[in-house]
Amino acid sequence: NGELGALGQSRARFISAEESTGVTFDDFAGQEYVKRELQEVVKILKDNKEFEDLGIYCPKGVLLYGPPGTGKTLLAKAIAGEAGVPFFSASGAEFVEMFVGVAAARVRDLFTRARQFAPSIIFIDEIDAIGAKRGGPDVGGGGVEREQGLIQILTELDGFQSQGSKVLVVGATNRLDMLDPALLRKGRFDKTISIGLPSEEGRLAILQVHSRNKGFKSEKEKQELLKELASITFDYSGAELQNVLNEAAILAARKDKDIVERPEIMEAIRRQAGDFATGEEDAVDASGEARLRIAYREAAIALLECYLPNPHRPFVKTNVREIDTYPNMEYTDSRHRVFAYKSDLVDSIVRACAPRVVEDFIFGKDNLSWMSGSALSEAGLLADYMILRTGMTALGKVYYRTQQDVMVHIVPKVQALRDEYMRYAVEKCSSILREYRSALETIAERLLEKEEISAPEIWDIFHKAPRIPQPEVKP
Ligand code: ADP
Repeated sequence: NGELGALGQSRARFISAEESTGVTFDDFAGQEYVKRELQEVVKILKDNKEFEDLGIYCPKGVLLYGPPGTGKTLLAKAIAGEAGVPFFSASGAEFVEMFVGVAAARVRDLFTRARQFAPSIIFIDEIDAIGAKRGGPDVGGGGVEREQGLIQILTELDGFQSQGSKVLVVGATNRLDMLDPALLRKGRFDKTISIGLPSEEGRLAILQVHSRNKGFKSEKEKQELLKELASITFDYSGAELQNVLNEAAILAARKDKDIVERPEIMEAIRRQAGDFATGEEDAVDASGEARLRIAYREAAIALLECYLPNPHRPFVKTNVREIDTYPNMEYTDSRHRVFAYKSDLVDSIVRACAPRVVEDFIFGKDNLSWMSGSALSEAGLLADYMILRTGMTALGKVYYRTQQDVMVHIVPKVQALRDEYMRYAVEKCSSILREYRSALETIAERLLEKEEISAPEIWDIFHKAPRIPQPEVKP
């Protein structure tokens, strides 16, 4: 691996080079048609002379497109492995740097090196990062840089055949629609192959590949488990399936078992779906982070309930066990669910902002999460309700019944009013949290410690906590 190894570490650090990938088509399961298509390419790449005599040339570029984790990289490596040629790879995103001229130089470097070792394969992952349509919106800047890189790729592709070198360029993207059409023209990436998410049958085949090195009770049980797993993993990519099996093996190992059984597989699926609230003691880090956010969210909701208790179903208790974007706070089912006064409605808008405002307050505006994602839109819906349905606001004593009423007459006025109420709600909510920061921290800590906290405890903390007086927030 001497020459190539050195190349991997040289100034072309962004290129990774493998003399032999060791990957074959057997490692890629499902979607047989894809393999058939590519097997042909391999043949041409391998027996170049024979095909040349027949006037058949190796395609220059093959573009694999499909969702992430569907095995595009794996396939590119398999082409190299099957043909027994070296594999050079780089990611489109890495080509684009802040220094002008770097992208083009890097592309040139990559192709020069691959040509030295021809026949060989170049793999460009995320080719859309550099090959996006020209003249479109310059997302994230670096437009000129990207464009120069793209032009260089086109130049290299066009230069190939004349130099008679056998280098196959494999590109991967999940955004075919974003690619510059020039890339797809004849003589460039003229073979495009779609790699979709696997079917149930495909999933079973992928599971077979990735369960090869794992222990099961018996072959029969293994087959039953894999079959069940394939049937319930609709929409899973190959990478996700592999993950489920690996996670299951890790869970089994933690229990000192050397075989994977149904409970571990089911647990692994829940984890793959991002559901960590399973009562397992040694939860992973993400769960700790999520719990912390839930604790502050629930504490803020509790605090707002105490501060603005009007008319509302009384709250009972909350917990940090359920990791969900929807609040965990439990309410009793009393009949006091109507908004008696306008101020109650306004208070409810303030309360609804709590999850988002507290996250901003505690974690910072650059560190917000999906955990509070729906809070402000719920607050906005309440504001809309008040503005359009109650006749209580500056819009007058009109009841707007339909969306169409709103569209035709009053959109700008509604927007202005809603902005006003939302501004007030967010400011008021922040002010309450600042005033009761100490209570907020105490409730959150109690939640993290005991997992659950009840209304009487919350009221107790609320009444006893020191307060930091805040300037008045005006509606
Ligand atoms: P992509 O490049 O499409 O994002 P990768 O090739 O990086 O996906 O896939 C990640 C891993 O998932 C692969 O290394 C492989 O282990 C597994 N995998 C994905 N698709 C398949 C498949 N069809 N058959 C076997 N393994 C797969």
